[in-house]
Amino acid sequence: MATENTGSAENGGAELESVAEGAGILERAKAVAEVAGYHADSVDRGARFPIEALTAARRQRLLGVLVPTDLGGESSNIREVAEICFLLGRGCASAAMIFAMHQIKMACLIRHGWGNRWQRTLQRRIASEQLLLASSTTEGTGGGNVRASEAPIRSDGNHITLERAASVISYGANADGIVTTARRSEASAPSDQVLVVFTKDNYSLEQTNSWDALGMRGTCSAGFLLRARGEADQVIPNSYELIHKLTMVPVAHLLWSSVWTGIAAGAVQRARAFVRNAMRSPGAPLPPAASHLTRARASLDSLRARVHAGIALFEQNTANPELRDSIGSDIAMNLLKVETSEMALTTVMSALRACGLSGYRNDSEFSLSRHIRDILSSPIMINNDRIISNSGASVLLNEVPDRLID
Ligand SMILES: Cc1cc2nc3c(=O)[nH]c(=O)nc-3n(C[C@H](O)[C@H](O)[C@H](O)COP(=O)(O)OP(=O)(O)OC[C@H]3O[C@@H](n4cnc5c(N)ncnc54)[C@H](O)[C@@H]3O)c2cc1C
Repeated sequence: MATENTGSAENGGAELESVAEGAGILERAKAVAEVAGYHADSVDRGARFPIEALTAARRQRLLGVLVPTDLGGESSNIREVAEICFLLGRGCASAAMIFAMHQIKMACLIRHGWGNRWQRTLQRRIASEQLLLASSTTEGTGGGNVRASEAPIRSDGNHITLERAASVISYGANADGIVTTARRSEASAPSDQVLVVFTKDNYSLEQTNSWDALGMRGTCSAGFLLRARGEADQVIPNSYELIHKLTMVPVAHLLWSSVWTGIAAGAVQRARAFVRNAMRSPGAPLPPAASHLTRARASLDSLRARVHAGIALFEQNTANPELRDSIGSDIAMNLLKVETSEMALTTVMSALRACGLSGYRNDSEFSLSRHIRDILSSPIMINNDRIISNSGASVLLNEVPDRLID
């Protein structure tokens, strides 16, 4: 098996994490990415939680970066968090996706739970204790239909309870809290949803299925029966309909895309190393498959540009809420996920063709086995077919752009 980074086996590569006192977020993230990359093959082989990477992320205080400074965080932004997801994705896709899923939930809590005392106390705890939040949107047999919930919130005075067949909760067993969608009440329609956060002391998890998957093995995305009881204030005040549109979809699509771009960059890095290795002897010609490295690089650059444009659109919508309501902006954010997942897959496949058999083998330093298996999750993680068919009506309503640059 290939090892992506150097580091001594004795200490598990922990020395890679040393960063200067007062280092910025990206410098700390690079250190965590080194640790994640060092352990990536073992995480993949064992389908185990990437404990070393998450311990390093906690030590570098990355889990609370989005929390406002007055609550003990760093008031960071999606651009910086996307950059961290990319860096981690180059090293270990599972660690990167876990970090991304946690930050997607953090963005929902921070942007929609700020007025509520319970929620503010939780944010303070996340910053100080570096708590890790998991996500539960997939339920029963509903697949990726995030905008419908079966299990209702049941209210009893100031308390609420929820019993939910959560068919996938990545790192559910390792999380300190779960942010879940639910039907608002027993009388509500499936689409009348709320977002609720429960901390570990609020719930029990009974595992209902396992996670032995092709890729993203370290996300440990098993199924659980979630039984939770908490306070009424644990329900985020805004409706899930609003949270979904303003935060959940755009932030999820941006951060997932950043992880996938990181995986693609890691694959291109291996392909480049392979071609350089093949040309090591003096006068050696460019290998015939080198053209695939050029293709891989071109699609990686397009992928980065698409994610960058998505981040710029999100920032523009956050600064100008009136623009956010345009159908064009919704289409761009929805389709971002479809496009980047397909481009990332194309990039990794081009890298494989550049490496040939060395990339196909599991036992080569240029192996792309893990990258390919991990990136294959991207089109099915909320299936592209579902997103495309849901966007059909908006695309019909929306005028075709009459300018090259908006
Ligand atoms: C690595 C990974 C981690 C995950 N982590 C979590 C997590 O932490 N929490 C969580 O809640 N969920 C998680 N999920 C699940 C994810 O959010 C989706 O629920 C899941 O990917 C849905 O997959 P599905 O194929 O079962 O369902 P569906 O999306 O229902 O798709 C099933 C099939 O139906 C087709 N299909 C569905 N709708 C349409 C349509 N409208 N038009 C045409 N075809 C359609 C699809 O093409 C597909 O073939 C994770 C998934 C992955 C891959």
